Amino acid sequence: MASELILIVEDNQRNLKLVRDLLQYQGYRTIEADNPADGLQLARSHQPSLILMDIQLPGMDGITALRYLRNDPMTADILVVALTAFAMKDDQTRFLDAGFNGYIAKPIDIKQFAQQIQACLHPAREGDEQ
Ligand code: MN
Repeated sequence: MASELILIVEDNQRNLKLVRDLLQYQGYRTIEADNPADGLQLARSHQPSLILMDIQLPGMDGITALRYLRNDPMTADILVVALTAFAMKDDQTRFLDAGFNGYIAKPIDIKQFAQQIQACLHPAREGDEQ
């Protein structure tokens, strides 16, 4: 079963708790930061399999944080998925163009979430499990 480490960077405590609970229920290990600076540090020190990155964050936005991750050899190859309330088509394109590996729209769809995470971690197996 899944035991990959996932870093959640989210400043909204309710969203953070929801995402954490859903991930842990699926068997993932989680670490978390409520601001991008701490998130960048945790990414370096813990080398998570996946980072779920909120876009609207204090200090710098998620796209800027992603740029730092990609420019750092220690974190350049980590999968990073945008966690965002901006889910219009233009925004989706903007996130993928910025270098995110995917995006998950907020509010979180509790029924879809596990599959979305699985698809992010293992793209080849996308859709083979409900
Ligand atoms: Mn936020």
